[in-house]
Amino acid sequence: MLGVMTIPTLELNDGNSIPQLGYGVFLVPADEAERAVSEALEAGYRHIDTAAIYGNEAGVGKAIAKSGIPRDELFITTKLWNDRHDGDEPDAAIDESLEKLGLDAVDLYLVHWPTPARDNYVHAWEKLIGIRERGLTRSIGVSNFLVPHLERIVAETGVTPAVNQIELHPAYQQREVTEWAAAHDVRIESWGPLGQGKYDLFGTPAVAEAATETGRTPAQVVLRWHLQKGFIVFPKSSRAERMRENIDVFGFELDATQMGRIDALDPLDGSGRVGSHPDELN
Ligand code: NAD
Repeated sequence: MLGVMTIPTLELNDGNSIPQLGYGVFLVPADEAERAVSEALEAGYRHIDTAAIYGNEAGVGKAIAKSGIPRDELFITTKLWNDRHDGDEPDAAIDESLEKLGLDAVDLYLVHWPTPARDNYVHAWEKLIGIRERGLTRSIGVSNFLVPHLERIVAETGVTPAVNQIELHPAYQQREVTEWAAAHDVRIESWGPLGQGKYDLFGTPAVAEAATETGRTPAQVVLRWHLQKGFIVFPKSSRAERMRENIDVFGFELDATQMGRIDALDPLDGSGRVGSHPDELN
């Protein structure tokens, strides 16, 4: 079993640190979450990415409580759902999430989507600033924000998010957002790091040949690419064997040629996207 010490941490722009690899629980059913998260913690994961809309915060909380792992060794993220941006709804939403998770505070709280047609993401961001000031989360960030959304929250509040969690994988590299993030000291978290299995990354020669050359699996090669790009990842699998495979990515490196071939996989026309467009989900 790998220990937590093998997972590197990255510093966030607010001085907190985050394990660069974690375990995501999107589409893990509520009644399976406790088992899955317990197995992930057993495999050595210490960073868990959930969201109110996933409906599994209570299962995540049970696994955390049962594990006996000291709270300061864990990094827990949850997210504010789209229908709770207005008024004091974000304050109620974080209270409900903490209750389900059985925690006094999370490590990272995110605005899940900008929902631009509703025009209330600046208000939601102001609320998250207050939630952090009240100590209910250590860090705050956003998810699925494009450059205009990011520029607007910074201009209107003066507070830069610690992270932006976006769909990102070799076939959809989001270069405009990642360049903005690098220039503003915002960490990128890649969701769907393996293309959610909807995009056949593993069958591309760049990935398949790097796997043969390194003696690793295609999934390990893709995760390694994210890590070497400086992105934070939390691949999801319900199977303990794959959880162990996905965390075992710190004992090898891709060389410049292997990285360059994977960098070249983005068709640049947006066709690699597997999820919703942030301007269209409201
Ligand atoms: P992912 O790219 O991690 O793909 C998960 C799928 O890949 C699994 O269901 C499994 O079928 C397959 N898989 C996993 N490990 C494998 C392996 N070793 N070999 C072969 N196949 C493997 O996609 P995801 O779960 O959508 O993304 C990861 C996490 O990102 C989520 O669990 C969630 O925490 C987060 N997320 C966030 C948003 C957002 O809007 N912020 C959206 C989607 C996901």
